[in-house]
This record gives sequence, structure tokens and C-alpha cells, in this order.
Amino acid sequence: MSGLRQLPSKLSFVPEVLRELKEAGLYKYIRTLESPQGAWLYIEGKRVLNMCSNNYLGLANHPKLREAAIKAIEEYGVGPGAVRTIAGTMKLHIELEKKIAEFKDASDAITLQSGYNANINVIGAILESPEDAVYSDRLNHASIIDGIRLTKATKYIYEHLDTKHLEKLLKETAHKHRRKLIVTDGVFSMDGDIAPLPELVELAEKYEAILMVDDAHGEGVLGPHGKGIAHHFGLEGKVDIEVGTFSKAFGVVGGYAASPYAELIEFIRQKGRPFTFSSAVTPPDVAATIAAVELLQESDELVKKLWDNTRYFQEAIKEMGYDIGKTQTPITPVMIGDETKAHEMSRLLFEEENIFAQAIAYPLVPKGTARIRVMISAVHTREDLDYALEAFERLGKKLGILKKKI
Ligand code: PMP
Repeated sequence: MSGLRQLPSKLSFVPEVLRELKEAGLYKYIRTLESPQGAWLYIEGKRVLNMCSNNYLGLANHPKLREAAIKAIEEYGVGPGAVRTIAGTMKLHIELEKKIAEFKDASDAITLQSGYNANINVIGAILESPEDAVYSDRLNHASIIDGIRLTKATKYIYEHLDTKHLEKLLKETAHKHRRKLIVTDGVFSMDGDIAPLPELVELAEKYEAILMVDDAHGEGVLGPHGKGIAHHFGLEGKVDIEVGTFSKAFGVVGGYAASPYAELIEFIRQKGRPFTFSSAVTPPDVAATIAAVELLQESDELVKKLWDNTRYFQEAIKEMGYDIGKTQTPITPVMIGDETKAHEMSRLLFEEENIFAQAIAYPLVPKGTARIRVMISAVHTREDLDYALEAFERLGKKLGILKKKI
């Protein structure tokens, strides 16, 4: 059956909601890529500079990862055939778990289908009843929020990065609860700021809470060889559970949780629902991820390039007069403020300047703080960055965001 069929009256809410989304500026217009990830992409037949993917190190189309994926298909085929707990655990999955545990200096790790599932899996395994409590940063990622929503635990939200507020909540409530979980993003994806890990470690110890950090934007980016946020702060072994994704710096797909306590990982393996009820990641994905971890272990050249590019771009765009907020990482929020202007800027970047950079606006970020979120990658050359900078300068002046020099 094809073509557009008239909706029956029981579905009359569908066009209404779609219209409301459009009117509120919340409708997602999704662009389709016609080429592999990289510094330059083809979209709608047009060659554009990619300033918005999470392919931090350029591994999504790296020859070593492609080769590993092809070899895995030849050896293991394309599908896992079952969930991990029945017949879907292949030698490759175990190999990746060993590799990622080694990379993170952890005792053990479990891998999952995505970072989203990893958060759901871990939070759901640990928190069971209202007797349990979760303390969550207000700006945590949706996968943490959804993981919490799926539990019956008592929820406390602390203000963004505010460890004083967190301590107040812990002091008032921790004694009432059985298991206590403090959970935070390592790097916050909308602003690029970093969680105050040393203080969080201290509070977790003081109030006997389990500390969980979602390092999705930190691994491959922070710390030596991109080992992540714990290494960045010299706090390896102090975070009870590090969750992450293989879809950003590692360039593939999948998620994981790693811990200094092997028994805790075994507990998560036994109790987590996405691990138990959803099929495993495919052999080519796993093999490519193993190759990505090996690349990072062998050399931190790409991580260094990512940071060189980040410093270069951020200094230049600030110099131009743009505000880039509180970022401490390659996530670069070029603040526009007004929602309509941010969408207009993104459209003009694409149509006039051949640059793919998305506007992020309310409700993803507070009203009046709309921005173009520029994601820097190690695959950008200096020429690419200069190309983007010139375009930002031209459009900033055209839209009245930057003052024209007289
Ligand atoms: N956590 C954070 C902080 C993220 O930014 C994302 C991806 N947007 C995820 C988890 C989910 O990762 P994945 O895409 O692998 O499901």
C-alpha cells in the first residue's frame, strides 16, 4: 500500500499535533546525508562543510574501522541472532568488553545497543522502589531522564552543576533511602560544560551514594588518549559507574557501562532490562568499535588534533565578537539568543555558505538562548575552519548579531 491515505477520525489528533509543532517552531526537519561522515558531506546534492556531527575524531569512516567491520562480516555474518542472554553473545562482544574495561582502567564492562540503552539499563538495574533515591543534575541528557522515569525511585533534581544544592538535598533526604544514586552527564551536550567531578566524588563518599557519570561526550575527547572525564580529573577508580556511547568519538554505534567493581557490572548484566530483552549489537559494529578503541590506545594524535582545532576555532570566533557561553570542550555553542534568528542563521549557513550547522533552540535550551551548536572534529583542516569562520563573520554582520566595524 502506498500514497497518502486520509486519516480516520480516531487519528484526527495526528495532523493537529503536527500543526502545533510547526506553529511552535518545534517541528524537526531532518536532513539526509548522501555520503559518509567526514568534514564535508553531500546533502540534497550539495557539498557542505559538516559542523554538527559527533564524529569528534573522524573515525566513522576510518579505513581501519571499515576494514575491521568487513572482516567481521566475513567471519561472523551481519546479525547477532538473539538477545545477549539467550544466544546473541559472540566472542566479539566479550572482546569489546575486555577492551573497553582496559581502556577505561576499569575492572569490567558491559556493552549495550546504544548509550541511551546503557543509561536505561544501569539506572533500572540499580533503582527499584521508592525506598531508593536518585539525585540528578537538572540538565542531564534525555536518556538519563527516561531511565529515571522507568523506575519507581524517589527523584531529587539538583540545579545544574550546583554541588551546594546537591549536598542540601543529600543532607535532608539520604538517611531516608536504601540505595542512593548520584547521576550526571560528564560533558553537557548543549553547552559543552563539564560536571564538577571532584566535588561529586566527595559527596558520593560522604553520603554513601553510588556515583554514575554519562561520559558520552567525554570519551575520545577528555583525558590522555581520550580516556574520559575520570582521567581528565585524575579520578580513575573513583566513579562507580561510567556510562558511554560508541556513536560519537568512537565513530560506530553502541553503548557501555564500566566500573572499578566487576561484581557491580555482573549485577547490571543480571538485572538490566535492555540487555536482557533487546538484541545485541551486530558483529561489524562491534569489530569496528574494537578497532576504534585500539586506535585510541595506540595514539592520541587525533585527540590532540581535535583540541588544536577546538582552540583555534573558539579563539577566533570569540575574537570576532561572538559569545560561546561556558564551553570547556569542542562543543561550541555560538549564541544567537533569538529563536527565529538562530533558525535563519542555520538556513543561511546551509543555503548561502554551504555549511551544515544546526540551530538549537527552546525547549532543548532555555528561551532566549538559541544558538548554532558547532561541533569541532579532528577531521577539519585549518582551511575548513577558516572557511566556517569567514561565513560566521559574514552572516553575523548580515543578521545584526555582530557589529559592523566602521
Ligand atoms: N548521553 C548523552 C549525554 C548523549 O549526548 C547521548 C547522545 N545524544 C546519549 C547519551 C545517547 O547515546 P546513543 O546515541 O548511543 O544512544
